[in-house]
Amino acid sequence: MKQSEPRLVGVAGGPSRHLPLRLTAVILLAVAFVALADAGTFAQRRKPRTVPQTSHSRDVLSAEAREMIGLASAVICKERLADPKGSVPIDDMQARPSLPVTSPEAVAGAERAQRLLPIAKNLVEVSLRRLTSDYKLGNRRGHSPRVQRAIARVRAVKNIHPDMDSRDNASVFLKNPHTIVFGTIFLAGLPSDEGIISVLAHELVHIGDGGEDNLSFLFLSVGNRASRLTGLKIHGQPAEELTCDLVGTLAARFYVSATPSYEPLPRRISRSLAHNCVEQDEGDDDHLSPKITIRALLTLNPTLSRELVYGR
Ligand SMILES: [Zn+2]
Repeated sequence: MKQSEPRLVGVAGGPSRHLPLRLTAVILLAVAFVALADAGTFAQRRKPRTVPQTSHSRDVLSAEAREMIGLASAVICKERLADPKGSVPIDDMQARPSLPVTSPEAVAGAERAQRLLPIAKNLVEVSLRRLTSDYKLGNRRGHSPRVQRAIARVRAVKNIHPDMDSRDNASVFLKNPHTIVFGTIFLAGLPSDEGIISVLAHELVHIGDGGEDNLSFLFLSVGNRASRLTGLKIHGQPAEELTCDLVGTLAARFYVSATPSYEPLPRRISRSLAHNCVEQDEGDDDHLSPKITIRALLTLNPTLSRELVYGR
């Protein structure tokens, strides 16, 4: 969520840490190999809304592709149930009582977010370049002056501010572009690195876009592509939110490659999207509904769908 109204937000968390050199090298290496394979922030008060459909395009996806997306969506929510680090669905978060910033879960979440912030910043940079290249919006390496301005803003983010009143939201304020405000319920509801990275990446994209709309060209392209593939009209703010989510899943996928573990690949990938496994599937004027978000992201990223279904 990006908010433009001025608000003074206090700075919390320890000083930002530098990404260890070895991990930096691992990430850069992994990035070189990972195929292109998005989660984000979610207003807690969603007004039910029906997304308009375009008159054509339900046929753009093959029956096989649609089936793969359905299977991959099911894997995400099934993995969440079995995963000790599974995210809490956002409708479940919304129903929970507020959590003080001093609660152990919120403290642990804030420390994890602060620790992962430098990594998320690097991965957002890589992901933005990848998308810029893939959508043919810059040169082959994804360089464009506008992306460069966005990356400079991303690099300047230093702080995570845990906030009880923000509950299950994360947000950034254009007047305070060095800080991500993270609701304590949200921090506690995302117990995995992958889940936190996907949300950090989402907010970093809003900051990169800033008041200058540095990334509006990318939001337009992603929205157009998603509209064509899904048959939904995804423009304006929903296109920005979807792009933030797309970068979130990309960043989390890069992180999984950079930090191998014995955990199954589908489980780790699922963590970047599993908070969308809601019972009450409602969107609002700015956001697609959580379940439509999952499907739109998988539609944009068939590689991710295949990895979720086949485990490799
Ligand atoms: Zn957002």
